[in-house]
Amino acid sequence: MKVDITKITDYDFDKIYKFIEKLQLEKILKDKKTILLKPNLLGAFPPERAVTTNPVVVDAVITYLKKIGKDIILGDSPGGSTSVKLVWEKTGMKEIAEKHDIPLVNFITGGIIQQKAANLEFPITKYIWEVDAVINLCKYKTHSLMSYTGAVKNLYGLIPGLKKSEYHKEHPDHTQFAKVISGLYSIVKDRIAINIMDGIVGMEGEGPSAGDPRNFGVMFASESASALDYVASGMMGFRPEKLEYIMASLKLDNIEISDIEIPEEWRNFKFHKVKIKKIGLYIKILAYSPKILKDIFKKHFTFYPDFNDKCKKCNICVESCPMQAMELREGDAHPTIDYDKCIKCMCCHEMCPYHAIYVHKSFLAKFIIK
Ligand code: SF4
Ligand code: SF4
Repeated sequence: MKVDITKITDYDFDKIYKFIEKLQLEKILKDKKTILLKPNLLGAFPPERAVTTNPVVVDAVITYLKKIGKDIILGDSPGGSTSVKLVWEKTGMKEIAEKHDIPLVNFITGGIIQQKAANLEFPITKYIWEVDAVINLCKYKTHSLMSYTGAVKNLYGLIPGLKKSEYHKEHPDHTQFAKVISGLYSIVKDRIAINIMDGIVGMEGEGPSAGDPRNFGVMFASESASALDYVASGMMGFRPEKLEYIMASLKLDNIEISDIEIPEEWRNFKFHKVKIKKIGLYIKILAYSPKILKDIFKKHFTFYPDFNDKCKKCNICVESCPMQAMELREGDAHPTIDYDKCIKCMCCHEMCPYHAIYVHKSFLAKFIIK
């Protein structure tokens, strides 16, 4: 399985268009007429925050698809309770859709098809079965809970609205949640014609929304989301074989690591000192330690969401909390969290548009989660 990688250091339309041209989408989409573009539209963040797929990338893909005669729709379901219309405006998608006169579709109101996999029920946007193919336009980022997010995790947005947060409630453990992601992947993977990842300015640190933009200066593409993630996460500094959902997805794609081909010049390439979170290491230590060590570890390894003074009292975090552990009381400077109910899913941290929630860490947590 081939993973294309090209160095592009800024959002220059012509350079991105050239990369898209090289992918020969007319061959990949030979018998397909109607295409759904699924960017990463996690929330109402402007492009410079590097949370969402940059509109110039979306513009270049649409321009090319129109040139080869495709009909296009564009959609995603943001996380939490964020207004979809606000997301379209802030992320620059509304402007791009108007420029090309293509419909923006709302997964929350557009209807679902219920599917089963890995003993789980998934309500999935029906659009993926109404079009002939989906193009996954993902973003290259770290992720506080799952360590890394790219192509496979972007497909989680095919589940509309707040149902996404509910899976955190039902599957709070990191390993269980990895099964949710790979379970969903098993259903939707055959609908995805190609995955194109915007890594020009991605995110490091407390991703997927509260981290720091980082100019990785690269774009990726592959017909397999799992192969793309295997390569891209490795370049970020992760050991991809430790990222459970990526390994499970590779298995679903029937891809051996030795089958993954990348351009020669990118072999063994790693970005310099990316700020990554290795929560997975903590999970593994807990899973394999004797009880006494586990207890000591649990006592000294703590992390939880907390607030700084940037809160604008928008209530998005409160509405997005799957445990109803948050409350915004009149007169308070920010919401309060009932930590007995909190499962540390970090949905609040992920959804806050104003960087007002940070992850508080004990000394041991700071040491392990770099
Ligand atoms: S308060 Fe806890 S349970 Fe609620 S969204 Fe935040 S981390 Fe998740
Ligand atoms: S912390 Fe404040 S600003 Fe952030 S989502 Fe919650 S209420 Fe809104």
